[in-house]
Amino acid sequence: MTITVPTDVADLRNLVGGEWVSAAASERLDDVDPATGDVLARVPLSNAADVDAAVAAARAALPAWRATSPLLRARALMRLRDELTAHREEIAELVTLDMGKTLPDASAEVGRGIESVEAATAIPHLLKGENLEGVAGGLDVEMVRQPVGVVGAITPFNFPAMIPLWFLPFAIGCGNTFVLKPSEQDPRPSQRIAELIAGIEEIPPGVVNLVHGGRGAVEALLDHPGVDAISFVGSAKTARIIASRAAQTGKRVQALGGAKNSMVVMPDADPKLTASGVLGSAFGAAGQRCLAGSVAVLVGSEAEQQRNLDLIVDAARELRVGAGIAAETDVCPLVSVGARERVEAEIEAALAEGAELALDGRRDGGGAGAELGPTVLDRLPEGSRALREELFGPVLAIKRVPDLAAAIAWSNESRYGNSAIIFTESGGAAREFRYSIEAGMVGVNVGVAAPIAWFPFSGWKDSIDGDLHANGTDAVEFYTRKKVVTSRWA
Ligand code: NAD
Repeated sequence: MTITVPTDVADLRNLVGGEWVSAAASERLDDVDPATGDVLARVPLSNAADVDAAVAAARAALPAWRATSPLLRARALMRLRDELTAHREEIAELVTLDMGKTLPDASAEVGRGIESVEAATAIPHLLKGENLEGVAGGLDVEMVRQPVGVVGAITPFNFPAMIPLWFLPFAIGCGNTFVLKPSEQDPRPSQRIAELIAGIEEIPPGVVNLVHGGRGAVEALLDHPGVDAISFVGSAKTARIIASRAAQTGKRVQALGGAKNSMVVMPDADPKLTASGVLGSAFGAAGQRCLAGSVAVLVGSEAEQQRNLDLIVDAARELRVGAGIAAETDVCPLVSVGARERVEAEIEAALAEGAELALDGRRDGGGAGAELGPTVLDRLPEGSRALREELFGPVLAIKRVPDLAAAIAWSNESRYGNSAIIFTESGGAAREFRYSIEAGMVGVNVGVAAPIAWFPFSGWKDSIDGDLHANGTDAVEFYTRKKVVTSRWA
């Protein structure tokens, strides 16, 4: 496959009411390829005036879009699905260049985004209301769903194509208009998706708008009276800021946050499933997934724990670290040199606390300096950040426990509850785990309990602020207001 790296560095533009406009803000940020250090684009850090223009365009487009039949809106989504499918590998290349992950991983990400569009094409069915005839003499009651209005979406760097597509198709399918503020670290996949949307006649100008930027643009969206709902994905710290500020300005909000996901390995676990599942989960995308299993909870006697640790470490040693564009790469660079330095500092801190290095990836650096090899930390003291907090790098912490009850109890002490995995050949253990574990996404013998667009996706506890998850019928709940009409006719 030929990869085209642009030689001229583009100043990205915002999409406002169907026009590509330069941001009024003068500040720019470099969008850097983490594998090479090359600057790929300059990202405008849009200000309140830029956000205001996008929101005004979204509000102007709302009445006509709301009045468009759900059938026609579904057909518009079918066109979007076709465009994304035709450009899937091109968008995947942009994901790899901007964010760093491997091409197969990037292509899978775009595929999952397309699935969200496919799920949202069922919108005429999903929007149907309820009714009850004759609740009293001659009195009928019906519930109809109407769009919330203008939706603002704020998305993270680690899935720059998929996460905007968790929100966009359901939001506009329900008759809302949309303003996307993608991550300022890797915005070109969103930019390309917006370009494709701008070319789809069935999606009129202003229905989907794009504003590049960072914190300032987010705050302007949160404070804007013309924005009715906010969909957010990012770290737990930012999620809390977003949810509080949205609540203060009376907006509906769903804010999906960070994670610390346990992978419980029982003594009877199948070695092949366990090794591939744990490795893919902990080190895929260099650990930069909200579903990354970042603690392996090894269950059993000391000998059983050690056997499974050896299994994981021996397999991890074989993983190849390198650029996401290279076919042989298993573990890609982190999103930036700064991110690699931050994760290495976390490893140093764990070692200073007394952790043992079962595998040291710190010398696997290369490329432009954002690479870090798989690292496994054992014998961490309880309370260590590496055991309890999200490091967002290729670092697997080991927790040793005697039995399943202890594994579940320890995992449930986490403030997060995004995902939890069990590897076992026992149906009874798996059932007990799925019943008792406090997590939104649970995997049995799979390393990553990935989003399936027809089901709601999110965690529990500090992994979400808000009630309704992304995707599935939760998306329709979030993007619609329910109206109950009671009628009597003479
Ligand atoms: P982040 O919180 O730094 O940024 C997310 C978005 O918020 C970006 O668009 C950014 O511009 C904006 N932002 C950052 N700080 C802000 C502030 N102080 N005020 C207002 N806006 C701000 O997250 P990230 O580093 O881009 O993404 C990684 C995080 O996202 C990880 O914690 C990961 O677990 C989480 N994540 C969660 C899910 C999920 O479904 N729960 C999915 C993917 C990623």
